[in-house]
Amino acid sequence: MSRSQSPRTQADWQALAAGLAFESRAFIDDAFVAAASGDTFESRNPATNEILAQVASCDAVDAELAVTAARAAFTGGEWSRLAPGKRKKVLLRLADLMEANKHELALIDTLDMGKPVSSSLGDMNGAIACIRYQAECIDKLYGEVAPTGEDALALVLREPIGVVAAIVPWNFPLMMTAWKIAPALAAGNSVILKPSEKSPLSALRLAQLAKEAGIPRGVFQVLPGFGHTAGKALALSMEVDCLAFTGSTAVGKQLMQYAGQSNLKRVYLECGGKSPNIVFADCKELDKVAKHAAAAIFHNQGEVCIAGSRLLVENVIREEFVERVLKAAETMQPGDPLDPESFMGAIVDETQHRRILDYIRQGVEEGARLRTGGQAIDGPGYFIPPTVFDGVTPQMTIGREEIFGPVLAVFGFDSEEEAVALANDTPHGLAAGLWSQDIDRIMRVTRRLQSGQVFVNNWAGGDQTMPFGGVKQSGNGRDKSHHSLEEYSSLKSVWMALHRD
Ligand code: NAD
Repeated sequence: MSRSQSPRTQADWQALAAGLAFESRAFIDDAFVAAASGDTFESRNPATNEILAQVASCDAVDAELAVTAARAAFTGGEWSRLAPGKRKKVLLRLADLMEANKHELALIDTLDMGKPVSSSLGDMNGAIACIRYQAECIDKLYGEVAPTGEDALALVLREPIGVVAAIVPWNFPLMMTAWKIAPALAAGNSVILKPSEKSPLSALRLAQLAKEAGIPRGVFQVLPGFGHTAGKALALSMEVDCLAFTGSTAVGKQLMQYAGQSNLKRVYLECGGKSPNIVFADCKELDKVAKHAAAAIFHNQGEVCIAGSRLLVENVIREEFVERVLKAAETMQPGDPLDPESFMGAIVDETQHRRILDYIRQGVEEGARLRTGGQAIDGPGYFIPPTVFDGVTPQMTIGREEIFGPVLAVFGFDSEEEAVALANDTPHGLAAGLWSQDIDRIMRVTRRLQSGQVFVNNWAGGDQTMPFGGVKQSGNGRDKSHHSLEEYSSLKSVWMALHRD
């Protein structure tokens, strides 16, 4: 099939995949280059275990080159001092190019990390919408004139921060990228993107599109490599002014230390979760709620920061509700990621596959009741079916730790107070859901949940207008909405003395 046609069937996607060529070099100072060391790492398709590309493995030397180019671009002002309306035009051009190439971008993420292609297409729509939203925001964000007497004019100006390093994970490779780079670029910063070593390829394709869109030299660069080499070098750099991170809580903690050891750069963290999804007995349409509860954990193979991994069900309906969840889970089995009908795809790699199976083993050993799933599906790729444990308690490992896989832990509760206490009994605070028809209860519980976002009678609803981020050890940053744009700028207070006569 030709590139201009939209793929619809599994065969269409396979044909498109057969014709793909991957950019696998780093994008530094406006050029695609090998790592200075010449080192590469393998990018594999986790659904087939085939090697897709040998990708430049950047380290501290390459990071230094990128940081120098980013700083020069920022100081030069071609982007940082460009009128916001002109930056907007370039970013809208980038969004248009992404739109024109969205099937290819979606396919790259699917091949690189195993998610179903229909899900990747949804991610592309989200990524493009984010770039457009932030581009449109930037020429509508005003500074302030502070209240003074006649003897002064006091301005609060909003300025770009400088060099932003965006370090992102593999579970939504291009969408997480867009959530960082769109506001950071719109605000006028120079951005160095460090994609995950497990999914670097769409970021490199994006670099090609950014160049084509006209983003000036050194303003957007992509540094593929490992966390402990490329990522750490950026985080310790004295010339990086801000770290925008999405990833695990453990690495988030390290980044704060690196900032302290270096130049006190700003650190925005979007970290892990163990999100509670609370079902009260008064909620309506239990079948529909059960489907949402299953999708909340099995979407993207459970590799979702806001996965509804803890299902808290009022005990009076628990038995029947779990049966409905099991029925829904049955329809969500993993399949070929290139089949648009597949609900789940492959687990990202062997390490994550092993990790998930290890958690399942611990769940069984610690006495949780395995109701479905639990066994790996035979390879060559890495597949795990929807897995549901009932009778989970907060003491069990699977009830406490983020698994990042298709494993649901069901808890029972008898009262609203118990539900809230269970929900908040976690170091994380990224997302929470509640299902009820009682508006008083909805408002009471919503206010008591320690969570960056609360979904009422839905899971994962929202759009670009809503800030996305966590509390507690889920992080301190906010992606999306104009709040994220504000994070990537500094306030400058200007007090101008005026003569009164
Ligand atoms: P990770 O923390 O292992 O890696 C994330 C990124 O950090 C990668 O690019 C990695 O190379 C880099 N990194 C690792 N060690 C580093 C170091 N020492 N210095 C600098 N960079 C380093 O996370 P992951 O496995 O890629 O992603 C899964 C995690 O991401 C989960 O915990 C998930 O909840 C979280 N996540 C959070 C959100 C959110 O918005 N809150 C969204 C998606 C994923």
